[in-house]
Amino acid sequence: MARVYNFSAGPAVLPEEVLKEAAEEMLDYKGTGMSVMEMSHRSKAYDAIIKEAEADLRSLLNIPDNYKVLFLQGGASLIFASVPMNLMKNRKAGYILTGQWAKKAFAEAKMYGEAVELASSADKTFSYIPDCSDLPVTEDMDYVYICENNTIYGTKFHTLPDTKGKTLVSDVSSCFLSEPMDVTKYGMIYAGVQKNVGPAGTQVVIIREDLLEGDVLPGTPTMMNYKVQADNDSLYNTPPCYGIYICGKVFKWLLRNGGLSAMKELNEKKAKILYDFLDESSLFKGTVRKEDRSLMNVPFVTGNDETDAKFIKAAEAAGFVNLKGHRSVGGMRASIYNAMPVEGVEKLVAFMKEFEKNNQ
Ligand SMILES: *Cc1c(COP(=O)(O)O)cnc(C)c1O
Repeated sequence: MARVYNFSAGPAVLPEEVLKEAAEEMLDYKGTGMSVMEMSHRSKAYDAIIKEAEADLRSLLNIPDNYKVLFLQGGASLIFASVPMNLMKNRKAGYILTGQWAKKAFAEAKMYGEAVELASSADKTFSYIPDCSDLPVTEDMDYVYICENNTIYGTKFHTLPDTKGKTLVSDVSSCFLSEPMDVTKYGMIYAGVQKNVGPAGTQVVIIREDLLEGDVLPGTPTMMNYKVQADNDSLYNTPPCYGIYICGKVFKWLLRNGGLSAMKELNEKKAKILYDFLDESSLFKGTVRKEDRSLMNVPFVTGNDETDAKFIKAAEAAGFVNLKGHRSVGGMRASIYNAMPVEGVEKLVAFMKEFEKNNQ
């Protein structure tokens, strides 16, 4: 068995320990004589899995009791529509545009009401986070929306925007559980788990209870009505059972390994190894303004498309896979999520140094 160093932005690397546990339990989950994939979502065994997953997530993030935790399906992209359907009571909201995912959420919101651009970093190919200290937020806006970590461009909000008292909604797909966060600063947090936490097909939504009151927009599908999902403990219909089970294992892995503060320390260490090298390299360059750099997604270029392609090919042959940048921006991107070991980043940097020496 040969595992590679997988720098994919998502679906992405998962902890080996978790994969092994899942393999061991594949045919017979805890004496039930069946796989978790084969069991009723209303069974006693599954009830324990989903309840423990929620309890462990609450403990990892210190989620207050007045927030609901939902496990849903449909991709983070479906949530782009769920957000306005559930929260746009006045049919008006502000969006901060920091990349493709924020732009897509903005476009989706425009189908349901007035979505207003509050700030954008499109002028410099989204290579920075705009100043959000004095945004043109108006009294009639239902919420302010951000994509907190920009998976494609490699930027992260290190300071949350001043929403002038309005509800903050954040897409944290690619930084979820990479470091502690203060849930009380948000009205709603959501993540597609395939970036840092689990297999594709499961979404986590954390939403403050009072936001579930009042009508949703007419035409909202029952499945996208968060009040219905919350009232049914994410079991209105069959949830993404197996995905939730794997997420639960990752939550336990995080708790065993010191929780999110320990994870932050490790992620900072890994990111520093790579950014320090990029800062001194004569061949490779980071593409993001320093103070806005993401700990999770690190884009870089050589400035020459042919050299980029040559590097990606050579890296793959050496066991460093999925380093190609997003199809919309090119270059390279190393995603170094929780499950990427320090050693993986060290070895990548050693490989880059060697490549640099031979390709000046
Ligand atoms: C990947 C990603 C999405 C889209 O996720 P899907 O589950 O494919 O819809 C949305 N937002 C962010 C920040 C992402 O990284």
